[in-house]
Amino acid sequence: MTERREVPFFRPAIGDEEIAEVVDSLRNGWITTGQKTRQFESDFADFIGGGVEALAVNSATAGLHLALEAIGIGPGDEVIVPDYTFTASAEVIRYLGAKPVFADMEFATLNIDPASLPALITPNTKAIMVVHFAGLPVRMTEIMAFARKHNLRVIEDAAHALPAKHDNRMIGALDTDASIFSFYANKTITTGEGGMIVTRDAEIAKRCRVMRLHGIDRDAFDRFNTNSRGWEYDVVAPGYKYNMSDIAGSIGLQQLKKADALHARRTHLASLYDQYLAQAPLVLPAHAAEGQVHSWHLYIIRLNEQALLGRDELMAGLDERRIKCSVHYTPLHRLSYWRDTYNLRNEDFPNAEKSFANCVSLPLFPTMQDDDVRYVADQILNLLSINSSPSA
Ligand SMILES: *Cc1c(COP(=O)(O)O)cnc(C)c1O
Repeated sequence: MTERREVPFFRPAIGDEEIAEVVDSLRNGWITTGQKTRQFESDFADFIGGGVEALAVNSATAGLHLALEAIGIGPGDEVIVPDYTFTASAEVIRYLGAKPVFADMEFATLNIDPASLPALITPNTKAIMVVHFAGLPVRMTEIMAFARKHNLRVIEDAAHALPAKHDNRMIGALDTDASIFSFYANKTITTGEGGMIVTRDAEIAKRCRVMRLHGIDRDAFDRFNTNSRGWEYDVVAPGYKYNMSDIAGSIGLQQLKKADALHARRTHLASLYDQYLAQAPLVLPAHAAEGQVHSWHLYIIRLNEQALLGRDELMAGLDERRIKCSVHYTPLHRLSYWRDTYNLRNEDFPNAEKSFANCVSLPLFPTMQDDDVRYVADQILNLLSINSSPSA
């Protein structure tokens, strides 16, 4: 291998449009939550469709917290959550003094296994949180049937799932209580830090709107743009400080306009990986089923039994070749707080154990070039001692 190039794991796709919109906010004198954020919310609701409301917040974690609060989760309640997710999905359950109950994943999809639910339900179970892992929609028809049967609320951690579809409907427009998207730096669209709560339930929207800003009955933009009694407000609950600034909202406004183009690019790059890695001793990512759309937030490969190399050796080899990869994620049962607080044992999560030991997230971002994918795939094949991939 004579070629030496560098492939980062991720690089946000920020263009002149985002920069100009931020500069406009900085110059126009309104930098906290205002018209830019409102425009972003309304464009986002239109993008999802189905008559949803969209509420911008300063992170998806904040949004998940608010959504669980709005559906009334509190001490004594149990919420079923995937074990194979980022810690934010479960920590928000603890914020409210409720108990997370961890479900193992389905090996093929990396998503929560609907078949694991009956064994986890108790008289205290109030809700299920699902995560559309890597952007592949969960089998929501089964989840919703189970939830209806047991009278459970359903919250979607949709941090990876913009844009994605289930049953030909956008994630965000399903019959769940709320879907929460993330605009963290490496998500499919970004505001630096930020998130969006999407719901079709007017009561949930109302509660989240008040609780994201101190429990105040109206926001600063409303107050300062009405009349001389703009200084006046009421506090109806001890709320949080979770509003999105207009600086972040400006970035989001422009990113959203590109969401479909960025998604098309990711989908193309993922199909190149599929093609180049088809012969390797790997489990390639599951594809979306009929009627579904995968957002391709992450492209996760797993070494299979035929691979002569371990996960860590493969990652070290790629790192030496200046290709940056990652692991999504260490399952929660292996992290000390969750393991020790809930006595979680590795053997209770066999699919997560098998996936975690063998998984690598490959570089995937919209400005990545086709020949970057080729290069990454060739290095993987080389490390796994397979001749270079067939020509495209
Ligand atoms: C990124 C992420 C979050 C948290 O998003 P923030 O916007 O950083 O709070 C939650 N859940 C999952 C699955 C994520 O990947």
